[in-house]
Amino acid sequence: MRIVRTIDDLRKARATLGELALVPTMGNLHAGHVSLLRLARSHATTVAATIFVNRLQFAPTDDFESYPRTFEDDCEKLRAEGVDLLFAPDERVLYPRPQAYLVEPPPIANELEGAFRPRFFHGVATVVLKLFNCVQPDVAVFGMKDYQQLMIVRNMVDQLNLPLMIVEGETIREADGLAMSSRNGYLSPAERAEAPRLHRQLQAVRESIRSGRTDFEPLGEQAMHELHGAGWKPDYISVRRREDLAHATAADRELVVLAAARLGGTRLIDNLELRAP
Ligand code: AMP
Repeated sequence: MRIVRTIDDLRKARATLGELALVPTMGNLHAGHVSLLRLARSHATTVAATIFVNRLQFAPTDDFESYPRTFEDDCEKLRAEGVDLLFAPDERVLYPRPQAYLVEPPPIANELEGAFRPRFFHGVATVVLKLFNCVQPDVAVFGMKDYQQLMIVRNMVDQLNLPLMIVEGETIREADGLAMSSRNGYLSPAERAEAPRLHRQLQAVRESIRSGRTDFEPLGEQAMHELHGAGWKPDYISVRRREDLAHATAADRELVVLAAARLGGTRLIDNLELRAP
C-alpha cells in the first residue's frame, strides 16, 4: 500500500492507477469501514482510502481533539484489505489557508443532524469535494450509517456534475444491533450495554409503521420519550421519506427512520429503512 501525505505525491500516485474506488474515512477503522473497502474493490480494479479528521465539520464544543486517532492500526487494516493507496494529509495540506470557499448544501442540511450540528454538512460537503478533486476517483463509497450525509453527497455529485459514481454500503452492526462507530469507544461498559436500545427503538418504530400507524410525528416523539425514560438525551427520532428526507406523509411508502441521541457524553446516530404497508 502506497501512503501519500501531500497532494503532489497523491497526483503522481493517482496517475499510475487505472479505475479507482475511494473510501473516505476519519480513521479509527472498524468492520463498517472494512465492509466499504470490500464494496469498493467490487466496483474498481484499484482501491484508495483517505484518513482525515476534518476540523471543518466539528463545532468548537465537539470532540475534534479527542477523536480517536489510530493511524498504525488503521494502516494494518487497510493493508489486510489490499488497499492500493492511502491519502492521509495533514491539516496544513488540505487547509493551507483558512477555507474561504465552502459548499453551500441545500436546506435539508439544516434539519436532522444539521439542526443539532450547525454547519456540519457545509464542512462535510466541502471536504468531500476537496477529496474528490485531489484523488479523482471513478467511484466513491459511503455508508448508510450516515444516511443524511450519503444523501447530501449523492446530490452534490449529481448537481455539480462531478465525474464519479456514489455507491452506498449497508450499516454494519455489533451482534447486539449497535451500529459500529468510532464513537462507540467512548462508551463506559454500562453505557455499552445500554447502547443497543437505540437500534431497538428504531425497530419498534418500524414495527408500528408496518402494523399501520401513519401518525409519524407522535410515533417519533413516543420513541424519544421512551429513550429519555431509559436515561438517554435524544436529539431526534424522525420518520422521513427516503427520496429527499422530507417529513413522511401517509402517502409515502419508501421511508427511513433516523435517530440521534446522547448516552452519557457520547452522541450516537442510527437509522433504519422501511417500507410502509
Ligand atoms: P467515518 O470514519 O466515521 O467518517 O466514516 C467513514 C465512512 O464509513 C462513512 O461513509 C460512514 O458512513 C461509513 N461507516 C461508518 N460506520 C459504519 C458502519 N457501522 N457500517 C457501514 N459504514 C459505516
